[in-house]
Amino acid sequence: MAPTLPAPLEGKKRRIAIMTSGGDSPGMNGAVRACVRMAIAKGCEAYCVYEGYEGLVQGGDMIKPMKWEDVRGFLSEGGTLIGTARCMAFMERPGRLTAAKNMIMNGIDALIICGGDGSLTGADKFRAEWPGLMEELVQKKQLTVEQVAPFRQLNIVGLVGSIDNDLSMTDATIGCYSSLQRICESVDYIDATAQSHQRAFVIEVMGRHCGWLALMAGVSTGADYVFMPEKPPPENWEEDLASIVKKHRSLGKRKTIVIVAEGAHDCNLQPIKVSKVKDLLAGDKLKLDTRITTLGHVQRGGQACAYDRMLSTLQGAEAVNAVLDAEPGIPSPVICIVENKIVRRSLLEAVAQTKEVAKCIERKEFDKAMQLRDAEFTEYYNAYKITTSTEKPEMLLPEEKRMRVGIIHVGAPAGGMNAATRAAVAYCLARGHTPIALHNGFPGLIRHHDDKPLGSVREISWLDAESWASKGGSEIGTNRSLPSEDLETVAFCFKKYNIQGLFVVGGFEAFTAVSELRQGRPHYSSFKIPMIVLPATVSNNVPGTEYSIGSDTCLNALIQYCDACRQSASSSRRRVFVVETQGGYSGYIATVAGLSIGAVAVYTPEEGINIKMLDKDIDLLRETFAKDRGQSRAGKIILRNEKASDCYTTEIIANMIRNEANGRFEARYAVPGHFQQGTTPSPMDRCRAARFGVRSIQHLEGWFGKTKDEIDNDPASTVVIGIRGAQVKLSPMESVERFETDWKARRPKEEFWKDYNEIVDTLSGRKRGAIS
Ligand code: ATP
Repeated sequence: MAPTLPAPLEGKKRRIAIMTSGGDSPGMNGAVRACVRMAIAKGCEAYCVYEGYEGLVQGGDMIKPMKWEDVRGFLSEGGTLIGTARCMAFMERPGRLTAAKNMIMNGIDALIICGGDGSLTGADKFRAEWPGLMEELVQKKQLTVEQVAPFRQLNIVGLVGSIDNDLSMTDATIGCYSSLQRICESVDYIDATAQSHQRAFVIEVMGRHCGWLALMAGVSTGADYVFMPEKPPPENWEEDLASIVKKHRSLGKRKTIVIVAEGAHDCNLQPIKVSKVKDLLAGDKLKLDTRITTLGHVQRGGQACAYDRMLSTLQGAEAVNAVLDAEPGIPSPVICIVENKIVRRSLLEAVAQTKEVAKCIERKEFDKAMQLRDAEFTEYYNAYKITTSTEKPEMLLPEEKRMRVGIIHVGAPAGGMNAATRAAVAYCLARGHTPIALHNGFPGLIRHHDDKPLGSVREISWLDAESWASKGGSEIGTNRSLPSEDLETVAFCFKKYNIQGLFVVGGFEAFTAVSELRQGRPHYSSFKIPMIVLPATVSNNVPGTEYSIGSDTCLNALIQYCDACRQSASSSRRRVFVVETQGGYSGYIATVAGLSIGAVAVYTPEEGINIKMLDKDIDLLRETFAKDRGQSRAGKIILRNEKASDCYTTEIIANMIRNEANGRFEARYAVPGHFQQGTTPSPMDRCRAARFGVRSIQHLEGWFGKTKDEIDNDPASTVVIGIRGAQVKLSPMESVERFETDWKARRPKEEFWKDYNEIVDTLSGRKRGAIS
């Protein structure tokens, strides 16, 4: 007899199940939380399948309906709280038949799978076989035709959860940046001891088929050599490695770091193991005191970094939207990210392209393997090559094409400023340009003018900048003052030091400074040189880009702070923290931190604060605490940007909440202040800084041979480099200043993240309509 199925979905749109599968990765919990809550908010029923495909095959208690409260606190937990497993049964058709039956028995008509390429391959197979599985279930009399009829169409959506970042067609997988963070922390620790003892370390990182972690760790930490599967070293790699290490040591470097992906091999596909690299470094040629460190599972562990919490939340929400948009005939999507844009791609194609990378490696078609990874992969590889080795005769420009490039930091320090400078210096030197540090911003530059050689204008050597990849702050010094304070002397100094191209790193002040120099061109011909701004500020408020280096470091500092606040509340229970964030008149930091920590509400300058809003939010807090019933994770966070309101200060809001709570819960306020600038820059800031640093100098050198007037007349000679949507773009300052800048509020007129607020609210249960 056919089994009884659950009652049909009365008034509900769908019954959506979410599962995590394959190796666990930080951020998977964020995806589960977002899927469950978004599904409920959109009028669907949410289910979780425990232990990956194993749960789907076993059914019973492994498939559970989820309530809103069931995923409370998920964002800050590492691993996956709904479990994962490698399931052999699902690899075979009978296992998938049982899984299909279990889904129907629970009335589930859509499945969101968060896992790596194996899990998504399984998902794709399941989807392709689905009609056949339905027929077989009927044929075998396990279900009736009527019972399977509503389930003829299986909706599957993939989320890529993997630390390896091994899926093609997406720039980042959920978990890869957290894992990179763990690796970089470890390498930073090792660095200190290596430096002290002049040792060499060979560090093995995960990545059987994908070198993303190894490569990005190499870029972030300034490693001497990296081995990875997609791009094996040259045939004579032993000599190549020895000569690079020797060269670095002869220039004064005291340590050697070599990073080896676990799947590394030579160009004949012979494995390159850490022991082999160690023997080489310790051998007769180099005689280095060499140690091996295999990082192993620490790379998987711990809490997700800010980016993974944000990515998993945005992608989880998008996965539910994709389920609801699904139509027969439209291929199953996988939710991807390209630069800064969440996009849907064909699951089938992404899986096929990923498999093709492995095949290319097997066929020794390494260039093609690199191409099939995302576009940024090759760019990072090039940035790495340029910033590590020292002599590249093939890159040197002829004498007459070499430039003197001024490098200056303007504004408050931001994580990644040094990494950008390091990359720019390395690129300059590789091409034969002269990199010149203009120390301590514009005041530093002009102070030198009065014939007092204060050393504030200085050529930078490779060794000077070599150790800057992971350093916070600004090694060449930064200052907020603008050139307009003494434009004439600035022009004089540009001429005196023969500055032929200018690379400016900093926030809104840097943007303003370059705008002033550009506008000063009619009066001062020494400003008729190519100039580029690399946005670097915790506030992420520079027009012309959606991402400023330093903002990711800030978000990580902020979530750590909020997690600590929340944890302190868990012992006393029922406490709200109103946390004040930086950001000037831009609510970016507050909003993205809100997404990453699951804030109850975020108050931004763009939206302001009013009494109705506070009233509704206090009601929401009452409701939420009432439902909590002794749950330990009871601390709640409200984020308020520092300029969100002149009237409702952070302290006043906390007092109002406490007063209105009538003893049912507590409220405190907290101001992390400069803590938000972070200490060591995040790997994302370091890597992007390196990539953009190289790109910036490439832009400057492209102007070689142009006359001053040609430069003056071409808007593209003064640009801001940044990420816009799915692309890295160099936007002419002139039009960004005129059409895209809100000068009064010191932020872009259009802010790409505005819709994020709605997602924060949806996932906290805050009613949007009620607050305006
Ligand atoms: P990671 O990147 O961490 O290794 P993954 O998702 O690639 O994650 P796998 O172990 O390859 O991890 O796959 C997870 C599960 O997905 C497997 O245990 C199996 O149940 C299912 N699966 C993988 N490949 C297939 C396949 N070709 N057909 C059916 N199911 C599969």
